Amino acid sequence: QKILLVFGTRPEAIKMAPLVKEFQKDQENFDTKVCVTAQHREMLDQVLNFYEITPDYDLDLMKPNQNLFTLTADIITGMKPILDEFQPNHVFVHGDTTTTMATSLAAFYSGAKVSHIEAGLRTYNKLSPFPEEINRQITGRIADYNFAPTKTSEENLLSEKTPAENILVTGNTVIDALYFSVEKVNQLENHPEIEKLKNLVDTSKDLVLVTGHRRENHGQGFLNICQALKNIAEQSDAQIIYPVHLNPNVQKPVYEILSDVDNVHLIDPLSYPSFVWLMDKAKLIVTDSGGVQEEAPSLGKPVLVMRDTTERPEAVDAGTVILVGTNTEKITQEGLDLLTNEERYKQMSQLHNPYGDGKASERVVNFMRDLEVVPQ
Ligand code: UDP
Repeated sequence: QKILLVFGTRPEAIKMAPLVKEFQKDQENFDTKVCVTAQHREMLDQVLNFYEITPDYDLDLMKPNQNLFTLTADIITGMKPILDEFQPNHVFVHGDTTTTMATSLAAFYSGAKVSHIEAGLRTYNKLSPFPEEINRQITGRIADYNFAPTKTSEENLLSEKTPAENILVTGNTVIDALYFSVEKVNQLENHPEIEKLKNLVDTSKDLVLVTGHRRENHGQGFLNICQALKNIAEQSDAQIIYPVHLNPNVQKPVYEILSDVDNVHLIDPLSYPSFVWLMDKAKLIVTDSGGVQEEAPSLGKPVLVMRDTTERPEAVDAGTVILVGTNTEKITQEGLDLLTNEERYKQMSQLHNPYGDGKASERVVNFMRDLEVVPQ
């Protein structure tokens, strides 16, 4: 079977890398190729380097003033010659980015079967998150095979009349990636970025790790978030480390409000191994990221999620994350409480991770091996 895996952003690369590795292990059954759209360039390349993955095709689409209109069009037209040349039987996409949606459509037009990793996440609010919810719903309609991370995501797909035999619950490949990385990070010696972090982290203090990038939080959302972080820094003894996303809509409010606050360290986005290292050292994580809230429970870290809605209710139900929206009061209160209320903290940090056991990629590849060969 000819397998083409396509991705474009850092989180997709992190979550697809274990699958690329797993397909590559079985060269007898699979001819595996990787295509990156490079919707994010720098942050994507860091992950590719860490996993030692060299893309077979690279659309290199990041350009100044890229927007959803040109990006979508560029991906669809860019995929055509690749699909024509390789003629994959199966195209794998991940999650909910513009790369995911546009590649699925291109693959469908070409006659290849589409497999969707991390399928079935829904908020059923088409404006939140924007444009991810629509991207994943469209991809879900197109996909032939749906690899759902949890039972809840499977139920969403079933309620949309996706045939049960085309869905497999696998767990999330992000946990595969995390286990691989924790092991590798501990073997890395003198990693320059981690050495720098070692100098920055004050081990006598509680560490709060922050990330944020969601489009729907741009504007007032980030102003509120920054104010809350300022409050936490001023009202506790914790050290806040915040790798700031490169998007100017994030950079501007964050640097304006937090640059001169004691105990807040604004740093550049970290490569994946350094981020994993830092997550492991954190006491509390404050984020609007999807991937981070899936990873953190495996490291026993409570998470405050700066979103109003979530397509990851499992974590809320399991109690490993708390939804705080972008409400300054709420973020401040919950943050300070988790830093001081030891009983509550301990209870949260011992909860089971609902997102998997690190074997998701293996399950996907076993499923594909058992499929009848589909003609191109
Ligand atoms: N991450 C990273 N460096 C950072 C911040 C996050 O490598 O400075 C990783 C994190 O471990 C997770 C992924 O990037 O696996 C999440 O990416 P992001 O928050 O950009 O996207 P989302 O998960 O919300 O789609």
